[in-house]
Amino acid sequence: MAYEGNWAPLSPYTTGIRGRCPRCGQGHLFNGFLTLKPSCEVCGLDYSFADPADGPAFFVICFACVPSVALAVWIEVMFQPAFWVHLLISLPVMILTCLLPLRPLKGWLVNSQYFYKAEQGRIDRGSGGTEADNRRNGSN
Ligand SMILES: [Zn+2]
Repeated sequence: MAYEGNWAPLSPYTTGIRGRCPRCGQGHLFNGFLTLKPSCEVCGLDYSFADPADGPAFFVICFACVPSVALAVWIEVMFQPAFWVHLLISLPVMILTCLLPLRPLKGWLVNSQYFYKAEQGRIDRGSGGTEADNRRNGSN
């Protein structure tokens, strides 16, 4: 199944935004809109490493939600339109600017995680070093 070869590093921008596998750039990353596949159908890369958590939502909130709400507030303050104007303009703008970037952002974050080998932090119990080394390198 998993073909362990040497893979040229692919930019997380080009592969992630298109929702492609971070290793081969051919297979698909997503099963549905935001659900990740268990593994790549082309190279067999296991996607279980992927954990972007709230990353995509954070970027959408900062760079899409806030500006689209600001647009709605600006329309209200400048024109004081009837409520249906917000239904026709503000609401669709908010929905589109919040939903459309989620998938490319998640792809980019997952592929960046693979590219930079980012993972959960672990405590280094150390392998070498004597008691004296530790004393010398630690606080004195
Ligand atoms: Zn792949």
